[in-house]
Amino acid sequence: MSGKRPLVGMAYCDTAVRDNEMRMRTYCTRKYFGALQRCGADVILLPPTEDARTFERYLDLVDGVLLPGGEDIDPRWMREEPSSRLGGVNPLRDAYELELTRRCRQLRIPVLGICRGLQVLVVALGGSLHQDIAGVTQMQHSQQAPRWATSHRVSFDEDSLIRHWAGCPEAFTNSFHHQAANRLSAALKATGRTADGLVEVVESADPAWVAIGVQWHPEETLSGDEVSRNLFTSFVRTLGK
Ligand code: MN
Repeated sequence: MSGKRPLVGMAYCDTAVRDNEMRMRTYCTRKYFGALQRCGADVILLPPTEDARTFERYLDLVDGVLLPGGEDIDPRWMREEPSSRLGGVNPLRDAYELELTRRCRQLRIPVLGICRGLQVLVVALGGSLHQDIAGVTQMQHSQQAPRWATSHRVSFDEDSLIRHWAGCPEAFTNSFHHQAANRLSAALKATGRTADGLVEVVESADPAWVAIGVQWHPEETLSGDEVSRNLFTSFVRTLGK
């Protein structure tokens, strides 16, 4: 390391949604790159590209990759038909982020996946999702509280990386998802769950590749929550080593 701050590439997508105040925003809010910047990283945005040289250049440039939240994952990647409860999908974004994740694994570039980012990790490495969790749990995972408020408890496995990063065996987190991890391939393990058994944390089963996905949004709770800061700080610390 040359003393420079690690460089994180954040997968970018311009799909617009409305926030709680009905203002338009993209899924890739400044909360994500702001959290990384505050916790010691420099950040660049990586827009989807179909140019293989540009794609490989991204991988040359970055020390780590952040996969942010967003649309549902198209079930075609899991060889499933769409459920009637499936939300909006973005097949171009899916294809780009799935390939980005697989290349990061090959090159052992650390990955932090948030919400949809966890789901991209799961599907990219050969697992599957619940297209909608309505039939899976009665617990509320689409909280009606503000985004900065926490609503459910997630328990972390002993000896897991998430427990080490968080610095505690469990944490209260926010929750804004209606899809969730279902089956995991051998490349990932589930290391955090809510009381209903739903997977809220996945991490790489290969100690040589750092990859963690969290189903909640720590970038929204950063200012008031030590665990959220610990997650970003710990991720940034693993980069460039
Ligand atoms: Mn949840």
